[in-house]
Amino acid sequence: MTTPTKRTSKPRRRRGEGQWALGYREPLNKNEQSKKDDNPLNVRARIENIYAHTGFDGIDPGDLRGRFRWYGLYTQRKPGIEGGKTATLEPEELDDSYFMLRVRSDGGALTTEQLHLLGELSHTYARDTADITDRQNIQYHWIQIEDMPTIWQRLEDAGLTTMEACGDSPRVILGSPVAGIAKDEVIDGTPAIDEIKRRYIGAPEFSNLPRKFKTAITGLPDVAHEVHDVAFVGVNHPEHGPGFDVWVGGGLSTNPMIGKRLGAWVPLDEVPDVWAGIVSIFRDYGYRRLRHRARIKFLVKDWGPERFREVLENEYLGRELIDGPEPEVPEHPIDHVGVHEQKDGQYYVGAAPVAGRVSGTTLMGVAKAAERAGSTRVRFTPQQKLVVLDVAESEVEGLRGELDALGLSTEPSPWRRGVMACTGIEFCKLAIVETKQRAKDLVDDLEKRLADLTAAADLPPLSIHLNGCPNSCARIQTADIGLKGQIVTDADGNQVEGFQVHLGGGLGLDAGFGRKLRGHKVTGAELGDYVERVVRNFIDQRTDGERFAQ
Ligand code: SF4
Repeated sequence: MTTPTKRTSKPRRRRGEGQWALGYREPLNKNEQSKKDDNPLNVRARIENIYAHTGFDGIDPGDLRGRFRWYGLYTQRKPGIEGGKTATLEPEELDDSYFMLRVRSDGGALTTEQLHLLGELSHTYARDTADITDRQNIQYHWIQIEDMPTIWQRLEDAGLTTMEACGDSPRVILGSPVAGIAKDEVIDGTPAIDEIKRRYIGAPEFSNLPRKFKTAITGLPDVAHEVHDVAFVGVNHPEHGPGFDVWVGGGLSTNPMIGKRLGAWVPLDEVPDVWAGIVSIFRDYGYRRLRHRARIKFLVKDWGPERFREVLENEYLGRELIDGPEPEVPEHPIDHVGVHEQKDGQYYVGAAPVAGRVSGTTLMGVAKAAERAGSTRVRFTPQQKLVVLDVAESEVEGLRGELDALGLSTEPSPWRRGVMACTGIEFCKLAIVETKQRAKDLVDDLEKRLADLTAAADLPPLSIHLNGCPNSCARIQTADIGLKGQIVTDADGNQVEGFQVHLGGGLGLDAGFGRKLRGHKVTGAELGDYVERVVRNFIDQRTDGERFAQ
């Protein structure tokens, strides 16, 4: 008689993740190959010397759909292609011969002169388009490749750049729009942002990362730091004073994750070195085999924050970091809309376009209005708003009137204040549904439907974010009502544009992702009805002081 033997399965060999530090230097996919073949930053010279003269048809496809991004350039979606066809077409069938162009404004910081120039460029080269993105950038559309050398020249003469505005690189650094002037900030992070930009943006050592890398450095928790690849958040250390708490691995889209605290406190002048150490870990240990696993959050999830900190200290900094406390968290997200006193006794005035949509004409108008009010500084916010700084009390009302006349409300309804939207089907090649116009229509609709609630003093802030596809450019998972664009079936059985709903996400005190409710899919036409129902139910059933995200 034979006794059964226990079957032991051979341990499965884990396939490599393409980590350079483990010896995987040979490219494992076409994106990695493209970056190895030629440093993407070299594409600028080809645009200036070749493509600006040959025009769109002369552009090498590898540059067009790959390396152009390192200078903020993407082809925009060919008009007239329905959302349902997005996934079925080849990239070249979706490409228009015009471009979207993103201009970096790190910390959202601009002088009125720079803002005026951004408006002028929009007017001259971008059919007067301009969107304020939720990463404090300006995004143009309808750009032609022939105009890029002049656009770059004019931007650079004014101290602006499009370098690494997109691509697998360190993208624009988010910073508090009221850095240096807010009464309640712990510390002004601007010197660290400026120094990182000076040392590392455009540096070859960081121009080939596994994927995009998003940074936030702020003395106030007002820039969605929880969902950044790395974030430095102002905190007071009981012994060492003001500095920054370090977070890594936050991110949205697929497998969303709230960033993990390393438990380390970093003083202002050490932020650039620690930042460079963290980016170097991502460059060397980040996963390069599969694009969808190439964000730093996957490495942080596998390692955990303790091991991440150990590697940072031992292999990259050569010293230990100081342990530090957790930053304070605001009850509600801070958006800086309205009139607020600065610490120097002047005022800042925050205004809301709808879902970040402005125009070149509007930007020039804001620059002039700010200057008339005695200001030379304007900021974009991560909530797609803008803020004019340094306004004397006597100039505030005049400025508010001028901003209002430009369509920028300083006292918006809660719906207008809380709505954000990504680019959507109008220009984005990945989009399935329309977003910007729909956001505007929704705001107009809610202002009528919910007029009785608009004036209620105790109405908690409510965020409604619209995405045109499953990516999360408008941070749907952290909104009270997150709307993810997809094709849905309407009551008559037709396939129409609509949204999968995520409810109850939030940042700050309630940082967490909204619940995806399987049955909650709404058509675009039903959106107003749906939001009204959700808001009225919440108002009727909430307990005292309850926030939406609870
Ligand atoms: Fe485009 Fe999708 Fe991002 Fe919207 S969420 S901008 S549709 S990729």
